[in-house]
Amino acid sequence: MTRFRIAIDGPSGSGKSTVARKVAQRLGYLYIDTGAMYRAVGLKVTREQLPWDQPDAVIEAASRARIELRAGPHGLRVILDGADVSEAIRTEAVGQAASRVSSIPGVRRILVRAQQDLGRRGGVVMEGRDIGTKVFPEAELKIFLDASEPTRARRRFAQNRDKTGALDLEGILEEIRQRDRRDRERADSPLVQARDSLYLDTSNQTVDEVVEKILKMVQVVEGKSGSG
Ligand code: C5P
Repeated sequence: MTRFRIAIDGPSGSGKSTVARKVAQRLGYLYIDTGAMYRAVGLKVTREQLPWDQPDAVIEAASRARIELRAGPHGLRVILDGADVSEAIRTEAVGQAASRVSSIPGVRRILVRAQQDLGRRGGVVMEGRDIGTKVFPEAELKIFLDASEPTRARRRFAQNRDKTGALDLEGILEEIRQRDRRDRERADSPLVQARDSLYLDTSNQTVDEVVEKILKMVQVVEGKSGSG
């Protein structure tokens, strides 16, 4: 049976991670969260107090970073230079740092190559901002997940609250707007919907409804490719 590459892109809070993880589980595919890789580089640059205005220093840090994604019983673990940073990368501050490093083409080149290696053999659900447009433009199935701004802010709020408690809903909404603007306006691989992707607005749908829709699409693609 053919093992496909499924690309899931969309803005933050659109439900990508939860949906992608569940789709991967159901298919027995590898789940790859590419945002975690940009977050790991953002964390490294922050911790090493490197100068943000010197792209070469940031690119050099990205090339030194040893990033591993490990599937564990409690979800994906992210290992940076041998240490588990799964929790440390989930703050809004690291999200902003990730968004900044991700606008540097040299950083993207390094991470995109690593992502292409991870997905080369197929059987992956990869989520991010540029998977269908740049990492795997030839992916067998491409999904673009979206949701209204208030919905996305509420989801982020629910995710963050227990961990940092730092921002209220208004603050998160503002951060999401800023990050989205940067992701959509950057010159290299901006967040755009791939022309051949399926657009799903998840604002009024449960995770399971979205997962089922995607699994149906997988069946359609399987049918077309004759791999049943
Ligand atoms: O998805 P997540 O919020 O964890 O991603 C953090 C940041 O990493 C995004 O705001 C975006 O700037 C960047 N990113 C990217 N390309 C990807 C995945 C994430 O530029 N494929």
